[in-house]
This record gives sequence, structure tokens and C-alpha cells, in this order.
Amino acid sequence: MTIQTKHQTIAASKGWVILDSFNERGEKGHNYKKYKMSNLGCGHEMVIHASNINNRTIRCQTCHNEALTDKYTKAAEQRGYDYVSHDGKNATLSCKCCGTQKVTHISNMLNLNVSECCTAKNNISYLYLIEIRVDDARFLKLGSSRLPEYRYSNFGLPKSARVIEIGRAAFLTRQAAFEREAEMKAIFSDRNVRPEFTAPYMNNGVHECYPVELVEEILNVM
Ligand SMILES: [Zn+2]
Ligand SMILES: [Zn+2]
Repeated sequence: MTIQTKHQTIAASKGWVILDSFNERGEKGHNYKKYKMSNLGCGHEMVIHASNINNRTIRCQTCHNEALTDKYTKAAEQRGYDYVSHDGKNATLSCKCCGTQKVTHISNMLNLNVSECCTAKNNISYLYLIEIRVDDARFLKLGSSRLPEYRYSNFGLPKSARVIEIGRAAFLTRQAAFEREAEMKAIFSDRNVRPEFTAPYMNNGVHECYPVELVEEILNVM
């Protein structure tokens, strides 16, 4: 049995199939230093050191990252932020209210230990509905903020983008606006524009975007 056949068998027992082998420099060859593998369950691919093939389990990095992103997104939400990105060490967040970016250690995310940005309890806040026009794309964005204009300038939109405010409702506290936003989000949760569509245009706030056809319906319940 060649070493690679043996490794194929081990990989298969852990739910992986070896697609290719490389040397240390990533060149295809016969010294089997690295393997490109595909997961039989999720179909994701990754490259590992051949010596790691004997590890007890071989975790899919893509699935693991997606699970972390999910966790961080929920944690960010609870502290009043949009999740932007993470690496092995830090997470980048953007305040839902004003758009200010914050970088925090990932342990703070898991412990919900991130200080809120716009915490002022007694400031008038607004629920807003805007239409964003960029290139050929048109979509609505719903959110809440104490400073809507400042917030619009912090989505990270391209310079050519136009933001047209369609509706605005005032609330006596940040909390009241935030709660209304959450209710609205629940009402339209299955009709939002997929973040893959909005992400090319925005650095943050890619969720809670809706097709322009929903404008009347959203305005009616604002
Ligand atoms: Zn996976
Ligand atoms: Zn803020």
C-alpha cells in the first residue's frame, strides 16, 4: 500500500477525500507534504500538512469560520453593532447607530464584553428608511440611529452611490428606536435582500436591506 493510499483510507474514515498532493512549496509532486482535501459532508476544500492526517478529527476550516461568524454576528447584535469581519485574534464591528468602527479581541465577543458605542439612553433616535442607488443596483436599507446622516456616511458606500431618504420616525430613546427596528426586522425577515448582493457595495450594514418593491409596505408599519 503506498503512503498516499493509506492516507486516503485514513482521510475517508474522517469524512474527507484527498484530491491532490503537494510538496512544501505547494508544487504538485510525489513527496506528499501537503494534501488538498474535500469534505464529504459539506464539500468545502482545504489544504493540510500530510502529517496532520492522523489527527483525531480534521475540522473543516470553512465551516468552523462560518460558525464563528454566526456567533460573532449574534454577539455584535446584542451590543448594538453590525459584525464586519474577524481574524484569529480580533473582530471588527460597526456601531449600528453611528457607523463608528471598533476592533476588539475575539474573547470579548464570546464574553459579550464589548462596550456599547451609542448608549445614551435619553437621546432622540430615529428609525430610517433609505434607498441606496449604486451602479445598476437599487435597494432599501432600514435602520435606527441618533444621527442618521452621519450613519449614512459610514456604510462604506462607493463615492458614486446615492442615498435617498424615504422615511424617518422619531423615538424618545435610543432603546425605543432599537426595539422598533428589531420588530420591523422580524416582520420582513424572510424578504430581505441577500447580503451577498449588498456586500459588494457596503462595508457594514449589509443585512436589513430590502427590495425597492417593499417601500410602501415598510413605510406603512414604520
Ligand atoms: Zn465545511
Ligand atoms: Zn455609535
